[in-house]
Amino acid sequence: MAPIELTDLDRRIWEEELTGFVPERVFDVHTHIYRWAFFTDPDKESTSYRQFVTPPYEEANWRLLDECDRLLMPGRQVSRLAFPFPFAEYCDFDRSNRFVAKQVSDDPASGALMLVRPEMTADEITTAVRGDGILGLKPYRFYSKTGDAVNCRITDFLPEHQIEVADQLGLLIMMHLSRPDAIGDELNIADLERLTATYPRAKWILAHCARSYAAWPIERAGQRLADLPNVWFDTSSVCESDAIEALIRTVGAERVMYGSDDVPVGVLRGKYISFGYGWAYLSPSNQQLNLTHCDPRMTFTRYEQLRAMQRAGRRGELSKTQTRAMFYDTAAELVARTRTGLFE
Ligand SMILES: [Zn+2]
Repeated sequence: MAPIELTDLDRRIWEEELTGFVPERVFDVHTHIYRWAFFTDPDKESTSYRQFVTPPYEEANWRLLDECDRLLMPGRQVSRLAFPFPFAEYCDFDRSNRFVAKQVSDDPASGALMLVRPEMTADEITTAVRGDGILGLKPYRFYSKTGDAVNCRITDFLPEHQIEVADQLGLLIMMHLSRPDAIGDELNIADLERLTATYPRAKWILAHCARSYAAWPIERAGQRLADLPNVWFDTSSVCESDAIEALIRTVGAERVMYGSDDVPVGVLRGKYISFGYGWAYLSPSNQQLNLTHCDPRMTFTRYEQLRAMQRAGRRGELSKTQTRAMFYDTAAELVARTRTGLFE
């Protein structure tokens, strides 16, 4: 069974808007590889994860990702930077990390990051990195040692002894920022200024446009981020062109990389929308809008994101070369450089 069924609406958006925009080669820097079995909560069937980790996405392996890309972006050759799904609290870190490392090993350009929690020692991380060919760290706010996933600061869920390892080995750090204002929060931007100066060889990727699902956080922080060395950004699941445009304008297109947030977010139908100082995921099943005046169907998050990237690129007057770099070259170079630094 195909993991995704395309409708005439999806096909039309791909053919009329997107196929001319997405280059032949793609490097997806934000991909989740996992098994539902790695979520070890005894009550997991009644958790909210079940709403989106449905049976087609219980075994999110390389083959499934290839299949999703083949359906949504036909003919594109895709490499990936992949990491586990950060299941809250009950997560089998060991098996998650070994699984992702093994899954990426078939494509020499691709790379894996390990899921980390604050309790892991520097030795544990160094051993895993060297043993499994891992290129960096994927911390997550749910594992904050403060127990507060909403207001935690970076070092609450990525302690400095782990950033020190990233600095020593030149590792990547995939950072999904916490706190309600995300990168628009003074503590987050100040922490990043300090940490990038103290640990200059760690390479940060700030996920979801530094978690700017709307333009205002990146408008607030962009100028200061532009001055930081070794910081890159992925556009995964950001669906507002204003946010991506503000990112490109402030930090420069050469630091911005495509990410899908597959699976499942990128391949689900819906869109991240913003309002006031908030944002939310709107899907066919979580709202009761009265939509008799138009075609009420929704397309994939990924297509909404690509539309936003295209409009942002158009307004920022990106060249073909810059667009290709955003989809492939920047990430391929960053991942290759990280690997060379580690294993030579
Ligand atoms: Zn993600």
